[in-house]
Amino acid sequence: MDTAHLSANTALNHRREASVPRGVASATPLFATRAENAEVWDADGRRYIDFAGGIAVLNTGHRHPKVVAAVKAQIDAFSHTAFQVMAYEPYIALAERINAMAPFEGPARTIFFTTGAESVENAVKIARAATGRNGVIAFSGAFHGRSLMTSALTGKVNPYKLGFGSLPGEVYHLPFPIAHYGVTIADSLRALEMLFRCDLDPSAVAAIILEPIQGEGGFHVAPKELLIALRSLCDQHGILLISDEVQAGFGRTGTIFGIEHSGVSPDLVTMAKSMSGGFPLSAVCGRAEIMEAIEPGGLGGTFGGSPIGIAAAHAVLDVIAEEQLLARAKELGRRMRTRFEAWARRDDLLPIAGIRGVGAMMAFDLVRSRSGHDPDGATAKAVTAKARDLGLILLSCGIYGETLRFLMPLTIPNAQFEEGLGILEQALSVSVA
Ligand code: PMP
Repeated sequence: MDTAHLSANTALNHRREASVPRGVASATPLFATRAENAEVWDADGRRYIDFAGGIAVLNTGHRHPKVVAAVKAQIDAFSHTAFQVMAYEPYIALAERINAMAPFEGPARTIFFTTGAESVENAVKIARAATGRNGVIAFSGAFHGRSLMTSALTGKVNPYKLGFGSLPGEVYHLPFPIAHYGVTIADSLRALEMLFRCDLDPSAVAAIILEPIQGEGGFHVAPKELLIALRSLCDQHGILLISDEVQAGFGRTGTIFGIEHSGVSPDLVTMAKSMSGGFPLSAVCGRAEIMEAIEPGGLGGTFGGSPIGIAAAHAVLDVIAEEQLLARAKELGRRMRTRFEAWARRDDLLPIAGIRGVGAMMAFDLVRSRSGHDPDGATAKAVTAKARDLGLILLSCGIYGETLRFLMPLTIPNAQFEEGLGILEQALSVSVA
């Protein structure tokens, strides 16, 4: 095909279609060429404000100078040995730092991997080995990854489970409480009671896994009351509680871990994404006696705890402290909430509802009318496309695709934060839509 007359993005999309399977979808038809903090430029040289943060990866922004410097210094020393061949001090130092921040009392251990899904896979392996049990309980709407076990744990069929045959067994789902869809905390706990009566004895359950604030599922906050009840049932039956912090972690909510807001202590914590500012790294942190259940060699991976990701993560932790990003997350969250609540009252904007979140992990839904909560995924999709045309990268999520979620860098300058909200307001305008 003669592509000379096409825009650079369009020409690249033609090449993509002919070379990459459609199974990996992109939220935008854009190709990135460079990025800086909360701004990104596409292949046609157009600039966008980034409210997506590479799907929750960039709490410290694109190419934070301290992260880039740490990575460069590491590459100048060595880039890979495999921790399982020759270990390196920064891995140990990062484990020590994370253990000191662990959201539970007592000694902790941390092991590093590469992706979020890998951290969840390993948390399940550890929980099974530590308890000698098989069952794992997860929630509807949850997202835990795309590997086979994490696809089984994920609580959404289309597209995450379709066509992949039988997924690993002994995985059970409970309804996640969402008040505006009529699912109460009591409903969730009753479903658990029924599960224990009808399907499996609690003594067969290794772990309950949940996101303290669901990510892909729609930024629904796990109610404190639910977490307290789950903790108590776990204690009663010797079940481990896993907090999947891959999306909610590393400062997004105004604390390092999302579960800290509830005061409930998990036994195992998974983390990835924003922990390493754009470089691949994930981790499982857990109570020492649980983490030590696995024999040497049972855990690991060639690239797990890559020196580059580890160096980036040290810099990320420094930046979170030095730039007071936890307080910044709360501040951004407050400002978003105020703006969104004002928008929800305006007739010249599309109807929005369900404004929610913790810290800067904020979201709202597009609904069909200002009364009730009838989700409107098609309009949410149209709004993200409109925002993109106006220069803002925005992500939707939710079971019906009805939710707009906000994942801008916490380092975003105020002027760009306001500019981005201004574009979104325009995209929500009834006359524009
Ligand atoms: N858990 C949660 C809560 C996530 O949001 C994600 C990714 N969206 C994952 C696990 C999987 O992470 P990864 O894509 O790095 O495998």
